[in-house]
Amino acid sequence: MRTPALTTRLRPFTATIFAEITELARKTGAVNLGQGFPDTDGPESMLRVAQEAIANGVNQYSPGMGEPELRAAISEHRAARYGIEHRPEDEVLVTCGATEALTAALIALVEPGDEVVLIEPYYDSYPVAIAMAGGVRRTVALRQGEDHRFELDLDALRATVGPQTRALVLNSPHNPTGTVFTDAELAAIAEVCRENDVIAITDEVYEHLLYDGLEHHPLATLPGMAERTLSISSAGKTFNATGWKIGWVCGPAELVGAVRAAKQFMTFVGGAPFQPAVAHALRNELDWAEQLRQNMQRKRDRLAEGLTDAGFDVLHSEGTYFICADVRPLGFDDGEQLCRSLPERIGLAAIPVQVFCDNPEPAKHLVRFAYCKKDEVLDEAVRRLHKLR
Ligand SMILES: *Cc1c(COP(=O)(O)O)cnc(C)c1O
Repeated sequence: MRTPALTTRLRPFTATIFAEITELARKTGAVNLGQGFPDTDGPESMLRVAQEAIANGVNQYSPGMGEPELRAAISEHRAARYGIEHRPEDEVLVTCGATEALTAALIALVEPGDEVVLIEPYYDSYPVAIAMAGGVRRTVALRQGEDHRFELDLDALRATVGPQTRALVLNSPHNPTGTVFTDAELAAIAEVCRENDVIAITDEVYEHLLYDGLEHHPLATLPGMAERTLSISSAGKTFNATGWKIGWVCGPAELVGAVRAAKQFMTFVGGAPFQPAVAHALRNELDWAEQLRQNMQRKRDRLAEGLTDAGFDVLHSEGTYFICADVRPLGFDDGEQLCRSLPERIGLAAIPVQVFCDNPEPAKHLVRFAYCKKDEVLDEAVRRLHKLR
C-alpha cells in the first residue's frame, strides 16, 4: 500500500490534542473540563417526543431538506427572535449538527484555491473543512484587550479580507474565548463582506447562551447581509442534546440549495425521530432554554471565582460553555505543556487555547475550561486546581 494512507490535505489534522488529553483524562480518572458537553439532560418533554417518535415508526429517511415540521419551527424561531424571515420550503435545511452544515457549506461554496477567513482562535472543525474543500485558510486574531475581554483586530480584518476571499466564518458567541462580538465588530465584518462580495457563514450554536444581559445579534440582520449569509445553529447546545446532532442552516435559497447539494451526498439525512422532538422544543421549551442560560451564567461565575482563588488571571466569558484563564500568575508560561501534565499531576483535564490558532504565540499562556458541568464537578475541579500553587 502507498504510504502514508492519509492525503496531504488532511495530514496536518491527525494528532489532535483533544484525543490525547481525553485519553489521559480517561486513564487517570481526571475531572474533565476539557470537552464541552453538558452532564445533564435536555427538557423532559423533548426527550418524550423523541421516544414516542421512535415507538410510532418515525425511523426511516426524512425528506432531503428535513422534516417540514422542524423546518417550520426553525423558521418561526428565527422570525420571532431576530425578525429574519426564511421560507421553510427552500431557505432552511436540516443537517447532522452544525458541524455538517459548516463542512457542507464550505465544500459547496469554495473552489480549490479560494481563500476562507477564520477568526482565531477558531473552532477545531473549521480548518479541516476548508482543507477538505481545497480552500486556503487565512486568519484574523482576537486579541486580549485591556478589560479582560477579547477584541477583534479590525485593521487585520480589513487587511486580510479582499477580492480573493470567498467566505468568512464567524462564531459568536465564540468558542473557545466566550466572546460575544460587539455591534461595532459585527458592523466591520459586514462591511468587509459587502465590499469584497464575501459569503458569511455564521456559527450560532451558542445563540441562547449569552450572559449579563447581552443579546445575540445575527450577522444576517445587518444591512445587505441577509442575501450573503448562511446562518448555522443546532439543538445540541440550546437543549443539552449534543449527541442528537440535529443542526440547521438558513439563508437565501441559492446558497442553501448549494449546501444541500453537498450535504445530500455526505449523509443525505439523519436523526429522523429527533427532528419532531427538536421542533417541539423550539416551540415549547424556550423557557427551559432560558433557565439553562441562567444556570450556565451562575456556573460561569462559580468557575471564574474558583479559578481566581486558585491563582489564575481569569478572562471574561460573555457567552458559551467556556472560560479562558492566563496561567502565568501561577508560574507557568506554556498552556499546552501544563495541560499535558494536568491529568497526572492533579487529576484534571483542560484544553490549551494555542491549539485553536495558526499563530499560537499570543495564546500560549491561555487555557480553556468548560463550565457546562454539575456544580459538584466544578467544585472538585477547583479543589484540585488549588494544588498547583
Ligand atoms: C459544539 C460546537 C459545534 C458543533 O455543533 P454540532 O451541532 O454538535 O455539530 C459547532 N461549533 C461550535 C463553535 C461548537 O462549540
